[in-house]
Amino acid sequence: MELQQTLQHYFGHNVFRPLQKEVIDAVMQHHDVLMILPTGGGKSLCYQLPTLLMEGVTVVISPLLALMHDQVVSLRANGISAVMLSSMQTQEEAQEIENELRSNRVKFLYVAPERLSNPYFVAFLQSLKINFFVIDEAHCVSEWGHEFREDYRRLSLLKSHFPSVPIAAFTATATQTVENDIIGHLKLNDPRCVRGSVFRENLKIHVRHRIKDGREQLLEFLKMHQDELGIIYTLSRKSTEAVAHFLQTKGFAAGAYHAGLPTEIKNKVYSDFVADKIQIVVATIAFGMGIDKSNIRFVVHMSMPKTLENYYQEIGRAGRDGLEAETLLLFSAQDRVQQKMFIDDLPETPYKQHAYDKLESIVRFCDSESCRHQSIAAYFDDSIVACQTHCDNCRAPQSDKVDITDAARKLLSAIWRTQQKFGLHYIIDILRGSKEQRIVQNGHDRLSVYGIGDTYTKHQWLTIGDKLLELGAVKLGDFKVYLLSELGVEVLKGLHRIELKKERLHIKKAEVQKPQTYLDEANQQIYEKLRALRTQIASENNLPPYMVFSDKTLKELTARQPQNKEEMLEVQGIGEVKFERYGESFLSLINEE
Ligand code: ADP
Repeated sequence: MELQQTLQHYFGHNVFRPLQKEVIDAVMQHHDVLMILPTGGGKSLCYQLPTLLMEGVTVVISPLLALMHDQVVSLRANGISAVMLSSMQTQEEAQEIENELRSNRVKFLYVAPERLSNPYFVAFLQSLKINFFVIDEAHCVSEWGHEFREDYRRLSLLKSHFPSVPIAAFTATATQTVENDIIGHLKLNDPRCVRGSVFRENLKIHVRHRIKDGREQLLEFLKMHQDELGIIYTLSRKSTEAVAHFLQTKGFAAGAYHAGLPTEIKNKVYSDFVADKIQIVVATIAFGMGIDKSNIRFVVHMSMPKTLENYYQEIGRAGRDGLEAETLLLFSAQDRVQQKMFIDDLPETPYKQHAYDKLESIVRFCDSESCRHQSIAAYFDDSIVACQTHCDNCRAPQSDKVDITDAARKLLSAIWRTQQKFGLHYIIDILRGSKEQRIVQNGHDRLSVYGIGDTYTKHQWLTIGDKLLELGAVKLGDFKVYLLSELGVEVLKGLHRIELKKERLHIKKAEVQKPQTYLDEANQQIYEKLRALRTQIASENNLPPYMVFSDKTLKELTARQPQNKEEMLEVQGIGEVKFERYGESFLSLINEE
């Protein structure tokens, strides 16, 4: 049978989805493959279809029994012979399955990774005609990922035991680091790597500050999803039960699910949900991996997930059928504190720092006002345009935002002109014209970008740097060096407009206030008053006036009119010492205005 016919015959689809054909062709040509495609993208077909056109058996390695079971059932439902070997079977059952496999009547064998450490099983597999190995949820191989599993590490032996059998690895979530790790650990041989866009256009994403325990916000959200199915994630086992109970009292058919519940109860909640008998599962992250239910219409997080990978996987469970689905994340600053404490308790390993970095990424995501889809894509090293309509930030009113395109270009230009070898603080110091020794030694005070950014405070520049990171216009290299991405180069060329929520720059008035080169009449009056004060202080202290504050500082004071110590310290030429000496007098004069 031809590819197209097989697609129609066994799977009932008329056309391939993007990238499926590419992966199927590579598998058919016996290449090692790594496919990274969001949940619901159609990865299963990429190994199931070629198998049907091959003679032997395909061995699928999968992390969860429930997941294997679902896959076997669904293949059989399509008239395809599939079996699984698991520790739950009796010796006789296992024997029978092995016999079936020996007689070459089976197309798919599903097994858990730990089985590969059994020499008898390896020898048995070696006696079969294997088409290729499939590694499902391949990110579990990587300690840099979010679901590392010790037993997946054993898969590195596959290529030693079966040097001529190709491997096809699949995952929904892998950063570039995780991708490299998968390739390295599985010892993939010149693999075809196919990465789909991270963008799930049917998901609407909302992220909000949690008010109290978030239950009012939850009820408000559920009003829009009266008869629809969904998952609500909470962090603790106790809270799954509490929230489920709360929803039951409000008339919802909800059940709790967490790893501490008896197996019968977990199975019942799972199957009731799969069968649409309950509307909502309130769960810890223990629920949902590999869940093949396509009509989940919403996913809510009652607090901040541990990582963006977790978040993306969890929201990915909504809308697998491609129809609109909605997600809500509620977070508070407390979530960060709590999660940081969990990490503090971890043993000292390289992964601990990584866990902190991941925490900061999700915190940044929650706080950000960039397109949510774009931020997620950037995190996974993908670059997309803003969704415009499918997230809270894109739908926020324009009047809340300020154009920072110029500033972004200055920052990117400074990164570029210093050969992408420095961290953000150093770059900002250049922009703000710092006389720091290292800058002078490196000759960076002679760059055209030196001192062109003193209209923003250091803090504001750091926020602008964060924004570029969220957008994926810059990336972090080793030692937190800032690197330009393709998008960054486009921004530098002026091809994109960049906006930021005003409140993030702490702009209270309408626009970013620049020090003025000439002063209007009102400001001129203030300037004169400040100058008079300077003269008075200078004479009291027996100093030349410019040693109190330079003219430049006075002008900037006039333009910015700082209202407190913090704002005053942002003015060029005013450090702690000068503030201690003269700050209050100038502040009270400004405040009189
Ligand atoms: P993944 O494993 O990537 O999460 P699945 O393999 O479970 O995704 O596929 C998700 C859904 O997409 C399934 O319902 C599947 O039947 C459907 N699907 C896969 N390929 C196609 C196709 N070419 N045309 C139409 N539907 C498809």
